[in-house]
Amino acid sequence: MRSRFIVLLGPPGAGKGTQAKMISEKLKIPHISTGDILRESVKKETPLSREVKQVMERGELVSDLLLEKIIRERLNEEDCQEGFLLDGYPRNISQSETLKEILSEKNIFKDVIVLEISVSDDEIVKRLKNRRSCPECGMVFNLITNPPKNDNKCDSCGTDLILRDDDKENTVRQRLLVYHQKTEPVLDFFSKSAKFLKIEGTGAPEEILEKVLEKLN
Ligand code: AMP
Repeated sequence: MRSRFIVLLGPPGAGKGTQAKMISEKLKIPHISTGDILRESVKKETPLSREVKQVMERGELVSDLLLEKIIRERLNEEDCQEGFLLDGYPRNISQSETLKEILSEKNIFKDVIVLEISVSDDEIVKRLKNRRSCPECGMVFNLITNPPKNDNKCDSCGTDLILRDDDKENTVRQRLLVYHQKTEPVLDFFSKSAKFLKIEGTGAPEEILEKVLEKLN
């Protein structure tokens, strides 16, 4: 059977979330977004969630230990055994080591496909200012390239869309810095073992999806 254990990498704002949703629907594999899981968990008011929320608002990385717990639990669930699409994990070398350990235990590390969506920093800053997210279902829009059908309302659930705190310009620049320093080395980490696919992330989401599916086949 063709491998469907996909790690999606790319800078914040490359369109990973949008692509991840479409790819996972097409391939019928779960979309695991650590950003979505964290955003959901910080809605609960606990001392830990307040701390995590502040780290996210600063555009920094949440602790590797917390992420390990989240990802181990999720990858052990029934629906992940035949395939999954990881979006937002791993974000640094330490998380890559952890993922390697988890996937090696399942004997699927050798089957991983790394899909990189690449977009320039300037394009990202321009895009994220126009990104609007649904705080309820997580659907993502762009006022210019992928606008909602009704003014500022989610196409899927009708909730008012928001500009995420971490999509504000200063935080975006901080997140890009973190990406270049900590996440880019992950590409190198996987380059020796995984199948590698690189896609230019410019153009309409459907066009990019087409390129992705072509490369995956
Ligand atoms: P994202 O939606 O993937 O851009 O994630 C939003 C924020 O959640 C990031 O800027 C980090 O603060 C946090 N986050 C998401 N995934 C991770 C991860 N794998 N490791 C550490 N922090 C993460």
